[in-house]
Amino acid sequence: MPRRPVNAPYTITTEFGVPDSYAKFGRHSGVDYAGFGAGRPVYAPVSGTLTNIVSPTGGNMVQIFDGRYYHRLMHNSSFSRGNGRVNEGDEVAKAGTTGLSTGVHSHWDIADRATPTAFSQFINPATFLATPQPTNNQGVTDMIPDQDNYYWRWGQKAAQDIRGRQLSRAEFSKYIAGQTGTRALEILSDDPEADVVRNWQNVGKTAVNDKWDQQIYNLQDQVKQRDKLIAEIKAKADLSDSLQKKVDALQTEQAQDQATGNAIMRFIGKLFRTSN
Ligand SMILES: [Zn+2]
Repeated sequence: MPRRPVNAPYTITTEFGVPDSYAKFGRHSGVDYAGFGAGRPVYAPVSGTLTNIVSPTGGNMVQIFDGRYYHRLMHNSSFSRGNGRVNEGDEVAKAGTTGLSTGVHSHWDIADRATPTAFSQFINPATFLATPQPTNNQGVTDMIPDQDNYYWRWGQKAAQDIRGRQLSRAEFSKYIAGQTGTRALEILSDDPEADVVRNWQNVGKTAVNDKWDQQIYNLQDQVKQRDKLIAEIKAKADLSDSLQKKVDALQTEQAQDQATGNAIMRFIGKLFRTSN
């Protein structure tokens, strides 16, 4: 469950959506908590990936991406931690009045992108607090932690299925940790490696539909029959020129069919190779 960025007591001085001449889009993009002095701890409302940003308007601003939304906590006097993974409830800053601010307060807003371009991209923090967040079957927020064996195995299986290979620890931290499960699957599927796997799967389906194995058996039969014919002709004493030409032609065809068969076999071997 998400939480407010400050503990009680506090006063909400500006609600979400009210007309605001200071606001970039003319309406207040978040909620302002005030009624306390500088240095009041500001906490992560959600778990996610934290980025500290110094902005002319937001002042010392903490941004947390929860896998779906970007949370901004503005006007802090100082940051309490470095960039990276943060858990809900961790102290992230001390409240202050930096940036475009007329007094000590904590501004929390939530948008569906890192750099909002319209008021409609913000959601009301009150709505966010009241909306149950997605949870996994263990009842915890569905945010993939970095150092966790269960999610490590889950991520490896997903990567193997979607991309055709497993991830390094660094890749897992970079692409999977801090995301929701659904978003992690999207990220894995967006990767060009996923296309390569899909292409091979399609080739595999084509091979089954076109009965490539049957085609190879047919080629093998043809080669056997031709071998027999060549042997029969050669068994005759003193081959005439025309018969010799016939044997040469048959042997050329034979070599071609064998080459084709070998090429297909090599291709199938590559296709169904399970380990490198
Ligand atoms: Zn505000």
